[in-house]
Amino acid sequence: MSSNVHIIGAGVSGLSTASLLANENISCKVYEKSSTVVESVVKEPGLVWKNKMSHEVSQVKGLFFVGDSTVSYGIGTDSAAHSSILCHPKIISYLKNA
Ligand SMILES: Cc1cc2nc3c(=O)[nH]c(=O)nc-3n(C[C@H](O)[C@H](O)[C@H](O)COP(=O)(O)OP(=O)(O)OC[C@H]3O[C@@H](n4cnc5c(N)ncnc54)[C@H](O)[C@@H]3O)c2cc1C
Repeated sequence: MSSNVHIIGAGVSGLSTASLLANENISCKVYEKSSTVVESVVKEPGLVWKNKMSHEVSQVKGLFFVGDSTVSYGIGTDSAAHSSILCHPKIISYLKNA
């Protein structure tokens, strides 16, 4: 599938998403600002599962958010990877309908 997917951030979630898309022959460009890793962690108590930030905003179609601060189970890298697994079908659906 041809696409114009850009991923900002080569953390666990960004690379997990790129990997899931690559499995379906969807190529993406990944941008990373830092030569070091690890920036985001959930920063407030109570921000768990669906209380975390959504993967999408209604105002900007085609913009998706993944990472340990977005809707996902668990903490740390587990959470970051899980957010990618949950968001991946939404990206695929968007690309198919774009
Ligand atoms: C000190 C510390 C220890 C930790 N220990 C553990 C542990 O033992 N086990 C565990 O499971 N979790 C641990 N964590 C948590 C884990 O590191 C995070 O949950 C995980 O890295 C989150 O992944 P992410 O992809 O959401 O974000 P990140 O890994 O932070 O990735 C985001 C990436 O985006 C890049 N970026 C940001 N803005 C831009 C931009 N404008 N342009 C381009 N790139 C950009 C950042 O440089 C970063 O590389 C630890 C965290 C910290 C801070």
